[in-house]
Amino acid sequence: MLEPALYVVATPIGNLQDMTQRAIDVLQQVELIAAEDTRHSARLMAHFGINTRQVSVHEHNEHQRIDTIVHQLQSGASVALISDAGTPLISDPGYVVVKGVREAGFKVVPVPGCAALITALSAAGLPTDRFVFEGFLAHKSSARKQQLKNLADETRTLVFYESPHRILASLNDMKEVFGEQRVVAVARELTKTYETIHVEPLGQLIEWISSDSNQQKGEFVVVVHGASGGQQELDAKSLEILDILLSELPISQAASLAAKITGLKKKVLYQAALDR
Ligand code: SAM
Repeated sequence: MLEPALYVVATPIGNLQDMTQRAIDVLQQVELIAAEDTRHSARLMAHFGINTRQVSVHEHNEHQRIDTIVHQLQSGASVALISDAGTPLISDPGYVVVKGVREAGFKVVPVPGCAALITALSAAGLPTDRFVFEGFLAHKSSARKQQLKNLADETRTLVFYESPHRILASLNDMKEVFGEQRVVAVARELTKTYETIHVEPLGQLIEWISSDSNQQKGEFVVVVHGASGGQQELDAKSLEILDILLSELPISQAASLAAKITGLKKKVLYQAALDR
């Protein structure tokens, strides 16, 4: 018998073998499953022989569903919350329900499992001691670039979710803001047949993805190396300015003028000029 509670249950992000035994047991034993999309979850339920009644909980009805779930809990029943894939509440519905259930005085029990961001971080080979999860970036390039500019000096590893429609545009915006040397991992179709994890400086990474349309399909996690602390990074525009000045002026003068134009440190530009 399960203790009456709301169970927040993680489900696989592609590979059904990643379903945990505890998740199966809980979903079989609860009286009600609140699912992001009941039709989507039907496949998972059928695969694991789970016949529990489902109701939908999505971003448009989360507030109304609190009452249904709290009512169940008051009657001594248990409820599970699942999303279409991975951990509920992580770029998925559930926050409103979990908050509401807690405020109503009921227990919320996590049943952990997959989350695409952790899966990507575990294999990308970029620093994982400190990271920032930013979810999805804005759809429009101008808003997206502003978000990226706000993160340009962030030294912790950055993690984003991205859709196949915007993956190239977002990577190009990142190149413009972070510079082509910033190392990025693109983790595509994790745990699925065409899983690909490719790690390279942005300039080369974009060339690689652009040259193969298959690499632009599926689901993506983008993991970005943090800015190297204290050391300013040169973006493509600043390098272009430096190159123009170098074609007319001695190194020291070109670096000094480029520093005034770009706002970067002269020392950084001088070193870059020596490396050109
Ligand atoms: N709740 C999920 C989790 O725990 O990761 C995330 C749900 S969010 C609506 C869906 C996004 O997560 C996708 O657009 C993609 O960016 C990322 N994602 C989910 N599954 C993935 C996979 N198998 N490979 C790469 N990215 C994935």
